[in-house]
Formats: sequence, structure tokens, C-alpha cells
Amino acid sequence: MITIHPANKPSAKPDPKPEAAATSAEPASPSKVIAVVNQKGGVGKTTTAINLAAALALEGLSTLLIDCDPQANTTGGLGFARDEARASIYDLLMGHTTADKVILPTDVANLSLIPGSKNLIGANLELVAQDRREYRLRDALAPIRANYPFILLDCPPALDLLTLNSLVAADGHLVPMQAEYFALEGISELMSTLDRVTQSFNSTLALEGVLLTMYDDRTNLSQQVTENLKAFFDDKLLKTSIPRNVRLAEAPSHGKPVALYDPKSRGAEAYRELALELLTRNNIQSPEEKRRKAASAAAASSL
Ligand code: ATP
Ligand code: MG
Repeated sequence: MITIHPANKPSAKPDPKPEAAATSAEPASPSKVIAVVNQKGGVGKTTTAINLAAALALEGLSTLLIDCDPQANTTGGLGFARDEARASIYDLLMGHTTADKVILPTDVANLSLIPGSKNLIGANLELVAQDRREYRLRDALAPIRANYPFILLDCPPALDLLTLNSLVAADGHLVPMQAEYFALEGISELMSTLDRVTQSFNSTLALEGVLLTMYDDRTNLSQQVTENLKAFFDDKLLKTSIPRNVRLAEAPSHGKPVALYDPKSRGAEAYRELALELLTRNNIQSPEEKRRKAASAAAASSL
């Protein structure tokens, strides 16, 4: 039996503590900023960030994807070649530029990208000396937040200043996990870090959900891990799980999200289902959902 210390259980609602130094310029908006986070490497953060963002965009919702990882896999996975001279999230964090100047359109309708860069490797050290070092991303996104119903942040596999900036900028965090024994080991550490962030920097940060990735429901271990996660996270464990699917692994080398690379694959269907689950949980009806409902109502009335 795998157990997690109950002290690290996610609280249903974060404590309403006064914000230490929240920016005053933030417009009230219906936008939702979600950080895709897990300090464990290779669990499907980037695959989830790219394909969930694309699925939301294809539902007709303007979506901004931000590559906060020095590996810049999200940037490459959307077909952008490495280019250290291109303005990136690094320049934004350092205050060299503004968000509107680093946003790039992508091949997916309604999906924009703020690219990552290898320059981010130095950002952790450089940020230490900066004013409001934990709030740099939050402050930089404030003027453009209202333009996007969804902003997704792909975090690096570390609980460093880049991840901290993402969590301080976010309304919610989404935690991809593999259903394996070692995946659970880091969860206590991640949850206590998230609690500390909530208490010190961002009192409204909430767990959006835990997502099982590379899932194979035929193994006993997967089932046991799923049961333990269900007991621990309750309804925060998302109903949608992402199966292991080779199309998901191939798509980035073609510079496309799976929805464009192979829209009928199991991977594409799973990320579409995940987007619909998140929309339902947030009470958001997408333009595509409205169109589908109108079409089925018209078909029913013509019978
Ligand atoms: P890192 O911590 O290094 O940033 P990550 O958490 O972002 O990694 P990914 O890069 O998304 O993880 O995935 C790790 C590897 O697993 C990649 O090669 C990716 O293509 C593959 N992969 C992710 N999800 C799936 C899946 N559902 N089916 C098959 N392969 C997958
Ligand atoms: Mg990654």
C-alpha cells in the first residue's frame, strides 16, 4: 500500500490570506491561468501543455501557451526552431520587453505562444537579484490576461524560481502523473511546496486537477495507484486519463499538436476529452460546444 502523509493532502479551499504584494494593475477578467507542474521529469507536462492548449483553442477559445522551461520543448513541439536571438519568456521575466511583443501565432487557430529559450537556464540566478522576483511573470501577464480565456504555463521539472513565478502567476495548477510507484514519492514534496506558495505568495492558487498520463489500465499497478490517488485527491483526480499513445510521442517531431498530426488518434481524443472536462468543471461553454448544441437542436426539430 502506498501512502501519502495526510498533512500534505490538498486543501479544498486555500486559506484566504492577504496577498503579500499583489499587483494592482490586474484587470478583473474571466481568464484562467493554469500552470502544468510536477517537479518529476518526463511525466507528460509538455505533452499535456501543448495538446490541452491546442484542444482548448480548437474549441474556439483564444488560448496562450507559455514555455517556462529552459529545455524549450513546447516551443520546438509547435514547430519553432531554436533561436536564441528571438525574444522569449526570458526577456519578459527580465523586463527587457512586454508580453504583447513576445507572443507568436501558431499553426493552430486561436493558439498563441510565448516561446521559451535556453537563456532561461541563467534566469534562476539572475532573478534572485531582481525586484519582485516571484511576481515577474504575474506582473508581465497582467496587461494581456483579459485577452485569453485560457493561459497555460509549461513548467520545468524543478521547484525553482521559474516554477515559482508560474505558480504565482496562476489561478490553478494541473499535475500530470504517471501511474507508477515512484510517481507518488514526490507528491508529498510537491503538495507541501504548493501549500507554501499559497500561504506566502498566491492565496487564490487552487488545484485544478491531477491527470494520469501514459496510462495503461490493464496493469494491476496502474489500478492500485489509481485507487490510492482517488482516495487521496478525491474529485481532484480528473476523470479523463491520457493513454500511452505513440502518436503523442511522434507529433512534436512534426512540430504539431496531435490534434493536427493525427486528429483521430486515441491521444488526440483523450486531450479533447480533457479540454471538455476542464470546461465543464469551470462552467465554461465553448463556441464549438454552442455550435454543436445548436446543430443538434436544429437536427432534432427537423425530424
Ligand atoms: P520534462 O520534465 O523533461 O519537462 P515532461 O514532464 O514535460 O518532461 P514530456 O516531455 O511531455 O514530459 O513527456 C516525456 C516523454 O514521454 C516524451 O518523449 C513524450 O513524447 C512521451 N509521452 C508523453 N506522454 C505520452 C503518452 N501519453 N503516450 C506516449 N508517449 C508520451
Ligand atoms: Mg517538459
